[in-house]
Amino acid sequence: MQVQKIYLSSPHMGGTEQSFVKEAFDTNWIAPLGPNVVGFEKDLESYLGNGNHVAALSSGTAALHLALILLGVGKGDEVICQSMTFSASANPIVYQGATPIFVDSEPETWNICPNHLEEAIKDRIAKGKKLKAIIAVHLYGMPYRAEEIKKISEKYEIPIIEDSAEALGSTYKGQKCGTFGDISILSFNGNKIITTSGGGALVSRNLNHKEKAIFLATQARDAAPHYQHSEIGYNYRLSNISAGIGRGQMQVLDKHVGLRRKMNQFYHEIFQKAKGVKVFSEPTSDYFSNHWLSCILIDKKLCGFSSEDIRLAMAENNIESRPLWKPMHLQPVFRNAPYYGSTVSEKLFEIGLCLPSGSNLKVEEKVKINDVLVRFIDN
Ligand SMILES: *Cc1c(COP(=O)(O)O)cnc(C)c1O
Repeated sequence: MQVQKIYLSSPHMGGTEQSFVKEAFDTNWIAPLGPNVVGFEKDLESYLGNGNHVAALSSGTAALHLALILLGVGKGDEVICQSMTFSASANPIVYQGATPIFVDSEPETWNICPNHLEEAIKDRIAKGKKLKAIIAVHLYGMPYRAEEIKKISEKYEIPIIEDSAEALGSTYKGQKCGTFGDISILSFNGNKIITTSGGGALVSRNLNHKEKAIFLATQARDAAPHYQHSEIGYNYRLSNISAGIGRGQMQVLDKHVGLRRKMNQFYHEIFQKAKGVKVFSEPTSDYFSNHWLSCILIDKKLCGFSSEDIRLAMAENNIESRPLWKPMHLQPVFRNAPYYGSTVSEKLFEIGLCLPSGSNLKVEEKVKINDVLVRFIDN
């Protein structure tokens, strides 16, 4: 019998996606524009509320790139970025010829540390540098310290780009993630909380941001019957086929958030008796995580096994698990970038592990995961 691999997070269709895609075929809207693109943007706008405008794009990375352009980031500028994140948060800074300045995490949300953020800002200003933006990330769906980060952003008048790629469906004090930034971004890649097979969005309360993002994402064509350009453009718009999948996914977003949160509960139950293993959880009731991925921290001195021991045992059983994001200041490609902080994100990387968290995991799969993990705890 062929045993299916259990993945960290795999696409989970709700059922109506194909009808939106079929409609696109029936009406021949097979293009990076059309009614599904507009419809998906409307769905996201009404989900996020608060007067937010959404531009649907080809990826979260493209959305981050356009966000930097909209904020005027260019050659010689500096942009602060949470060090512990996926490389896509930081790469677009380099696309613009700017320098990333990495900042450590704090241990409760694993996201950008307000103290080290302020330390970095003061030092860069003292050095006469031009700081143009702060990229803060809600890792694994856990909201960052939104109020403290906002205060610092206002104090020094540096706008926030909120990387909410992993946090659609999460909230902080009841406000939805994806609405905290001066500009925010979402991702609909195949492994995210909802997927369009590949896609992203730029979110802002400023309608000009949406309009300018769409203009730049469609090759920056001036209003003329011929092709005329006064600015460099990009091919970053979402396709009408992908947007159709997105419209179907929006119908099941909240249900899938509920299922991911149940997976987190599942791991809490498995590890509740295990000394030295901590399941990543909300620090207070102000935080509501979509628990995109459930993660654990393993103290080998207390439990006798390491995160790598678990990872290998799971791999032997055809179950995927993965270390946490390796901080950007430890990445060879960013070895020359300035860094502010201590060793919080490094420690998290050393002792953390992401576990299968999909909203589509079957009972048999959960039994198998449970068996492999319980063997460790009992030994
Ligand atoms: C997935 C992800 C991105 C990039 O989104 P894509 O749609 O894959 O380009 C950016 N930041 C974080 C934190 C992510 O997890």
